[in-house]
Amino acid sequence: MTSLEIVEQSDNRIVVKLRGIPLQYANALRRICLSGIPTFAIDDVVIIENSSVLADEGVAHRLAMLPLRTDLSRFVEPSACDCHSELGCSRCRVLLMLDSGSSDTTRTVTSQDLSSEDEVVKPVNPNVPIVALAPGQKLKVEAYARLGRGSEHAKWNSATIAVLTEGSSPDEHVLTVETVGSLTASEVVKTAVEELEKRLGEFQQTIAALS
Ligand SMILES: [Zn+2]
Repeated sequence: MTSLEIVEQSDNRIVVKLRGIPLQYANALRRICLSGIPTFAIDDVVIIENSSVLADEGVAHRLAMLPLRTDLSRFVEPSACDCHSELGCSRCRVLLMLDSGSSDTTRTVTSQDLSSEDEVVKPVNPNVPIVALAPGQKLKVEAYARLGRGSEHAKWNSATIAVLTEGSSPDEHVLTVETVGSLTASEVVKTAVEELEKRLGEFQQTIAALS
């Protein structure tokens, strides 16, 4: 009998007992939880003004590494979008703006200063420092986020931890997943199960086409 039982669950962490699932499939599921499902990350940054000490590339990199809350029901990956546009459309990208303005004091621009055009897709944590500004320095950028997968770049990783341990019997494995926060832990596992099913289906079709 094959079964999947939730042993422990919070928003960011889930422990699932897998029964009757061969090790190679359990491991495939683990890998997909880590880097095989889509999440949002900033992928394109237009620097309008940057008089901070951090180079433009540094700013872009810091923005890219921010985990963004992801809603998979309303968005698709650019490769699967009908718009076929390099710029993207409202179904495949989200614009986030950052305008520090100018100030007389030293301060730190954080992820909270990013305003998103979407209600859901925004930084998971509002307190991530991006750059410190001296009096008179400014940072103004337009950042475009899109769905991608950790297998392409680590900024799209959906989980920080996905480990498989032995269960109490030989046909039992325990999968522990901790997310970066873009998706909840249960969303990660559920989406990973669907992704594994899709990949196995595609593999089966490829094999069938050969014979
Ligand atoms: Zn599109």
